[in-house]
Amino acid sequence: MDTALNEGFRKTGTPNISESPLHARRQSRRIMVGPVPVGGGAPISVQSMTNTRTADVGATLQQIAELTAAGCDIVRVAVPKQEDADALAAIVRQSPIPVIADIHFQSKYVFEAIDAGCAAVRVNPGNIRKFDEVGPQICQAATDAGISLRIGVNAGSLDKDLYAKYGGPTPEALVASAMKEARMFEDVGFHDFKISVKHHDPVTMVETYRLLASKGDWPLHLGVTEAGPSWQGTIKSCIAFGALLAEGIGDTIRVSLSAPPVEEVKVGCKILEYLGLRERHFDIISCPSCGRAQVDVIALANAVTDGLKEVTAPIRVAVMGCIVNGPGEAREADLGVASGNGKGQIFIKGKVVETVPEDQIVETLLRYANDIAAHMDQQGSPVVVPITQA
Ligand code: SF4
Repeated sequence: MDTALNEGFRKTGTPNISESPLHARRQSRRIMVGPVPVGGGAPISVQSMTNTRTADVGATLQQIAELTAAGCDIVRVAVPKQEDADALAAIVRQSPIPVIADIHFQSKYVFEAIDAGCAAVRVNPGNIRKFDEVGPQICQAATDAGISLRIGVNAGSLDKDLYAKYGGPTPEALVASAMKEARMFEDVGFHDFKISVKHHDPVTMVETYRLLASKGDWPLHLGVTEAGPSWQGTIKSCIAFGALLAEGIGDTIRVSLSAPPVEEVKVGCKILEYLGLRERHFDIISCPSCGRAQVDVIALANAVTDGLKEVTAPIRVAVMGCIVNGPGEAREADLGVASGNGKGQIFIKGKVVETVPEDQIVETLLRYANDIAAHMDQQGSPVVVPITQA
């Protein structure tokens, strides 16, 4: 390998991150979702939910495999029908990550999910029939199986009495609902649960989780519900998760998008990476371009991003539109290009190593990037945050 490539690349991020560089994590108690710890200072896990018919075991497992490859730590599957409950055992047996059953309305599916070996069950007390009666039985069954639960309160299914009392799904109403259920669980001696209090509006969501976080040490599952298509949903999630995680609030996250679930995982992982809460993978730094740009920066940045989408090493690649500011502005990058006069100056850690015609920029950059990534992988750079049992 070229000498420039052998100088030792800075590792971006640190492995096994459990502490935020922005704020001390909120002290929460720890529960387990299968082998994945949630709360108690554990690395923040990323969740998603399959959108296949759960009864279609093959399709569901295929999607779980894609989510796992994208960095998903925990997956949830919907159980709206008996045939879905019947499929759970096979899915659990073959899933590489813990499976949570998502149950609304019918408590009998909760017991069937526990029997099927699910790592946890999400219940929405607001729409489980006679929850006050079956809640203690659910806690007992979870205790016997050694699994955890999630109390998932949603603005859309808030208890009617609380809705009337607070005049809508306000932060106070959502927190009152969550605390009522939490108390019911704790009164029967069950403590292995996390709570979510989701709302579609990021500001209300942040206020709700802040209020809930001040009331107890439950691990918190963050989510902006019904966040919308990719573009809007990603922005809402970044705002809400960013605000809370920057304050140390949140133990596991699920980005909700009207998009393929794998997109949710990618967004969730990147939110954690950019907050310094998960080791960085490949990252691109590209300038916005301006009147000095001598190349189509947007096309170049997209081509490089696309060409390196399979790279998992934590390499930073810069694409800059001119040689006036380019190399200086991108000094922190492992590799970069600054363009001018129909040519591209390729630089490694700020030093120019080659100048190539414009039509060879992408292929040259990709060749160097793959060499550096391979070098990083050989050095044993951990690229996935290992999640270990407490
Ligand atoms: S690197 Fe050059 S082209 Fe890009 S924004 Fe800066 S000055 Fe403009």
